[in-house]
Amino acid sequence: MAKEYDVVIIGAGPAGLTAALYASRANLKVLLLDRGIYGGQMNNTAAIENYPGFDSILGPDLSEKMYQSAIQFGAQYQYGTVEQIEDHQTYKIIKTSDEEFKALAVVLATGSEYKKIGVPGEDEYSGKGVSYCAVCDGAFFKNEDVVVIGGGDSAIEEGVYLTQLAKSVTIIHRRDKLRAQQILQKRAFANDKIKFIWNAAVEEIQGDQNKVTGVKYRDKKTDEQRVIKTSGVFIYVGIQPNTEKLRNLGVTNATGWIETNDLMQTKVPGIFAVGDVRQKNLRQITTAVGEGGLAGQGVFDYIQTLK
Ligand code: FAD
Repeated sequence: MAKEYDVVIIGAGPAGLTAALYASRANLKVLLLDRGIYGGQMNNTAAIENYPGFDSILGPDLSEKMYQSAIQFGAQYQYGTVEQIEDHQTYKIIKTSDEEFKALAVVLATGSEYKKIGVPGEDEYSGKGVSYCAVCDGAFFKNEDVVVIGGGDSAIEEGVYLTQLAKSVTIIHRRDKLRAQQILQKRAFANDKIKFIWNAAVEEIQGDQNKVTGVKYRDKKTDEQRVIKTSGVFIYVGIQPNTEKLRNLGVTNATGWIETNDLMQTKVPGIFAVGDVRQKNLRQITTAVGEGGLAGQGVFDYIQTLK
């Protein structure tokens, strides 16, 4: 028989952990499910310098602190990959590969994943010069020469952002024109600190074991290999929401992100969504926890309406 809860929260990153804290503090019976270790993307982060209250904190340490906060009022945590959620209006069924849970409400907090370019050195130097988030890591490259890989909106937007910190920003793009919106292109072309390398296929991210030292690429026109020296490589070739198991709920938009109102409610009553998995502009720990708080409280309010 399915174990019963007031709310099941899928994903124990900062958004899900905060939703669990608020819901359990409101005396709800809460289950947090995650297919990995609690903390989510924070575990992939070395130093976090933009979470209020800490000058700098290691990602795994902040994960542990948030987890301890989340379970102090009785929320339960369990390992499990959610394969399917069924909406039965007044209750929901949540299925993992080997178990079933019944809940009055569900919070989707499954996050998103950055696409990789898949070249040697990318994984090895992740966090040692390779980054997927300029807002997170840009400040570590003050007055240095950095490289941005990509040609879409994010690459150009983040490249412009990095010019406020770095000495120079070189955007490497595999085509001879950008995909980004015209207004962003104009801004980038007008910025003296931005240089472009066109028609270039990145082949390797090079380093000295400890940190990035350069990017090797092939000029697709001449077939020549070249290396550009840099200490920071920001990769923007796409980001995708972790919603492949949630599509049947009808809460995702055409690009797979979940849309909610200001109270984190999706269009399905009793299903909330928080954090990076939402359609939004800023994917950060601060935004994730704020949304988690709103959903935790919102679940309480929703359950009152069922009584
Ligand atoms: P996530 O942290 O992604 O957590 C989602 C969780 O859901 C994961 O644990 C995942 O295992 C789980 N999950 C997914 N699908 C399922 C499923 N089907 N079943 C069960 N569980 C599932 N932000 C900052 O504010 N400052 C920084 O310095 C910073 N640095 C960063 C550095 C890196 C390298 C990266 C990748 C991100 C960084 N960020 C930073 C961004 C920040 O980590 C995210 O915005 C934040 O973690 C989003 O929280 P979340 O809870 O929405 O999702």
